[in-house]
Amino acid sequence: MDFSFIPLEQELQKRVRKLAQDEIAPIAAEADESGRVHRGLMSILARSGLLRYCVPQEFGGYGVKVIRLCLIREELARVSGQADTNFIMQGLGSYPITLGGTPQQKARYLPPIARGEAIAAFALTEPGGGSDVLNMATSATRHGDGWVLNGEKRFISQAGDAQTYVVFAKTDPAAGSRGLSAFIVAQGTPGFDDSHRQDLLAPHPIGAPRFTNCRLPGENLIGQPGQGLRLALGTLDTFRTTVGAAAVGMAQAAYEAALSYAKSRPMFGQHLSDFQATQFKLADMAVNLDAARLLTYRSAWLKDAGQESVIKEASFAKLFATEAAFRIVNEALQIHGGAGLEKGSRVEALYREVRSLTIYEGTSEIQRQTIARQLLKEGG
Ligand SMILES: Cc1cc2nc3c(=O)[nH]c(=O)nc-3n(C[C@H](O)[C@H](O)[C@H](O)COP(=O)(O)OP(=O)(O)OC[C@H]3O[C@@H](n4cnc5c(N)ncnc54)[C@H](O)[C@@H]3O)c2cc1C
Repeated sequence: MDFSFIPLEQELQKRVRKLAQDEIAPIAAEADESGRVHRGLMSILARSGLLRYCVPQEFGGYGVKVIRLCLIREELARVSGQADTNFIMQGLGSYPITLGGTPQQKARYLPPIARGEAIAAFALTEPGGGSDVLNMATSATRHGDGWVLNGEKRFISQAGDAQTYVVFAKTDPAAGSRGLSAFIVAQGTPGFDDSHRQDLLAPHPIGAPRFTNCRLPGENLIGQPGQGLRLALGTLDTFRTTVGAAAVGMAQAAYEAALSYAKSRPMFGQHLSDFQATQFKLADMAVNLDAARLLTYRSAWLKDAGQESVIKEASFAKLFATEAAFRIVNEALQIHGGAGLEKGSRVEALYREVRSLTIYEGTSEIQRQTIARQLLKEGG
């Protein structure tokens, strides 16, 4: 996409593309397969100042603009799934504090996240509460001026490596959607165990933190009791669109790899790209890629322009871009034949990496449900 009509964004895009190619691509394979937050990668992201795009200006950041998050995710995901995750989790894991934290909480927790000195995590999902988030069992009960947390989370990105967790727990089981609250939990808090790791199809820094009579001071509550779901949904309303951008970045990498392979692979006295069957595949990939990019940047633009909620547009972008990316990566692998299955090939890694995008931050089924609800509401 050409961002020349927005000079600052075009400059950012060029800068991130160069950083990704020059500094991240050389260590991407090692970092992506490590399954842990990669220190070398984190220090590149911190040094480059990119993490500051995840935090407001008053607290050491450059301000949170969805278009910029999307541009950065697209360029990072194009070369490294891990770089993309490390970057965006600083935003997702801190945004509930940005949205609902006290000035003291913001001043204490946000600047180290902007500098990359503290790694952030967002702990919502748990064994009984994924799509059905209100079915979560983790509880926070009052204890004097503070709280006691008990329960277990799972699929928490950066768990085990993070220093600052935003954790969602039930404070009033009878209150339904107003019964969840959000807390800041520091790594090393007694009763908090973040050592349990999970091993996924594509290695990902992820784990299943547990709370056993974990005591927190009252000052670790974000906002008021009962505002947890509002903070979680507010965070996702900003960040869901950016999953579309990560999908676009992966799909772009797959498309480029397929195009280049098809043009160079000798086939029946010609090249693979000389056959109409291949050309039609490439055409479909390019159209899907462009449509995914347009839906993503439309949603980002609307959010930054101040539209109160982009719930429908963000779901359009997330649903279409992640499913399109899956189709594009699949076709790219097909075009490579057996070579696409070989470990070490970029399309092989992309094939594994792209799979999680239709699942995290709301599965495709949940996006369809959200879109349909909005359509029915709008239809009066
Ligand atoms: C790589 C990765 C990173 C993640 N990082 C984080 C993180 O940092 N923090 C965090 O809190 N969570 C994270 N998650 C968790 C993610 O958000 C959940 O996996 C997701 O919300 C789905 O929940 P679940 O896995 O429990 O699946 P389930 O909710 O059990 O869903 C199983 C299936 O049922 C379908 N389904 C659900 N409801 C309906 C319905 N009404 N009708 C039809 N089908 C339905 C789903 O679409 C899905 O296909 C991550 C997950 C992955 C894979």
